Amino acid sequence: MIKEMSCPDCEKIVVVSEIRKETNVVIKGKNISFLVPMYKCSVCGSEFQTMEQLEESLKLGKQSAEYAENELTPEKIISIREKYNASQKAFAMILGMGELTINKYEQGEKPSSSNRMLLLLSQDPGCFYKMYEINKYKIGDVQKEKIEHSAGLSRFINS
Ligand SMILES: [Zn+2]
Repeated sequence: MIKEMSCPDCEKIVVVSEIRKETNVVIKGKNISFLVPMYKCSVCGSEFQTMEQLEESLKLGKQSAEYAENELTPEKIISIREKYNASQKAFAMILGMGELTINKYEQGEKPSSSNRMLLLLSQDPGCFYKMYEINKYKIGDVQKEKIEHSAGLSRFINS
């Protein structure tokens, strides 16, 4: 889109074009990239943002960060499960899923929306413990022992 506005470098009214520029930020140790709206001066080539564009960028950055936070990659599913010391099968039983479901998700299959929700909730030890209490009769004693002494649960159970 072609517009005319004041360029901060030329210090006069120039023709500018609206561009989207890829920006990378690190939020909570995660690399997040998103496109921010900017203007590019047709005279000096300098790129700048108006206040509105800056606000829009901050909003986009926040949304991207939230999205990344709730993105369930196979690595993330593995890390949740390992936090509770659970085998794939035991983890699936506790979350009320089919025996091979976690295995499929860890291989890259996308979780259904209800299973995705359960997996996201299971990150919280309190939620996981409730699911564990409901379904622990389905899993063996060795697994139970491991899970109750896991880094993710032991502090929760003993407090
Ligand atoms: Zn300029």
